[in-house]
Amino acid sequence: MTANGKLQVPDEPIIPYIEGDGTGVDIWPAAQLVFDAAAKKHGKSVTWLEVLAGEKAFNETGNWLPEETVTSFRSHLIGIKGPLTTPIGGGFRSLNVALRQILDLYVCLRPVRWFKGVPSPVLHPELVDMAIFRENTEDIYSGMEVESGTPAAKRLIEFLHDEFGWEIREDAGIGVKPISKFGSDRLIRAALNYAVAKDRKSVTLVHKGNIMKYTEGAFMKWGYQLVRDEFSDVAVGWDDCGGKPGDKILVKDAITDITLQQVLTRPAEFDVIATMNLNGDYLSDALAAQVGGIGIAPGGNINYVTGHGVFEATHGTAPKYAGQDKVNPGSVILSGVMMFEHLGWQAVADDIVTALEATIADKIVTYDFARLMQGATEVKCSEFASAIVDRM
Ligand code: NAP
Repeated sequence: MTANGKLQVPDEPIIPYIEGDGTGVDIWPAAQLVFDAAAKKHGKSVTWLEVLAGEKAFNETGNWLPEETVTSFRSHLIGIKGPLTTPIGGGFRSLNVALRQILDLYVCLRPVRWFKGVPSPVLHPELVDMAIFRENTEDIYSGMEVESGTPAAKRLIEFLHDEFGWEIREDAGIGVKPISKFGSDRLIRAALNYAVAKDRKSVTLVHKGNIMKYTEGAFMKWGYQLVRDEFSDVAVGWDDCGGKPGDKILVKDAITDITLQQVLTRPAEFDVIATMNLNGDYLSDALAAQVGGIGIAPGGNINYVTGHGVFEATHGTAPKYAGQDKVNPGSVILSGVMMFEHLGWQAVADDIVTALEATIADKIVTYDFARLMQGATEVKCSEFASAIVDRM
């Protein structure tokens, strides 16, 4: 990282990758073909460094998440991963959670847009073009929970009764929902910086602050204050401009339940979205479905202060298709696009998107799209990647 927060990237970086379990053996080589072709076109090349996690790691090392994998992501700053099996049973920390905590990847970024020709359940999927900034380290997801009927739950219920006068049923399980100013500010700051860099028109703070005043309501208040304190030259809150921002970015807020309706009924009104962990989880999956979904939705976990980023396919391992060269590699390919953007390789990223769009527009698609499209040519995973490269 340079002092001004930009990544310094050589033309021939080493990038660690996790192939992924299940269909990882199919989608990773397909994605790599596309990445290498796009990089080469711009005089760059990536040395891919395989690191292990999941089943492959367990089979080769007896460890689901070897320390070297984490160390590698830490020292190379960025990396990319396919889907991983989540083993059933205790004692396993998911790789995502481990990397998120160790590298403090506080943003989960999920851009959601429609590609011409992709089958969608809505009439106007082209109106969906949003970037969801989901807080990754706090909220009810922080894992602070006690199970119903345990001594810990009993103690906590007694403490809350004695100290706060709160009445909680004795057979309740309890979770804790921390939302800090620090965590909210840095997430909303990242969303605003993105909106500025990408010339976006609005940032919507999505919250349920009418009910959860001191957590989700505080998130909204801190967001508006951050706009006044740090972004007043480029952005303005709704109340501070009466909804008329001029040429500045409009920062507004919306209650979560209404947002879930309106992203469907009035998608053009949403642009960048900044929200907490649980809301962000629901919203990003609902929106991915709206634009045709699971096979092509990308994601990235990012710390904009240190530059660390881990980009990932958002679907699972789809084990029934593993090794059949069948599934859609679009999710990991578009996650690579996000990674190249993060590296500042915008031209490489743009070329991949344009070629992917052209391939789908030519109705050359994998089974998942082919079964929903009229007149499509169904191709294998690897053939889809080759078709993208041909159009680059
Ligand atoms: P899944 O692997 O995402 O598969 C569910 C369905 O989604 C598949 O049957 C397939 O639908 C469709 N699908 C998934 N990947 C696709 C692709 N690349 N192209 C086209 N369609 C695709 O979910 P799951 O079966 O619930 O989970 C399987 C394993 O993955 C579990 O061990 C789970 O823990 C893990 N998982 C990992 C991650 C991650 O690492 N990020 C995320 C989610 C789940 P059709 O059957 O309709 O063709």
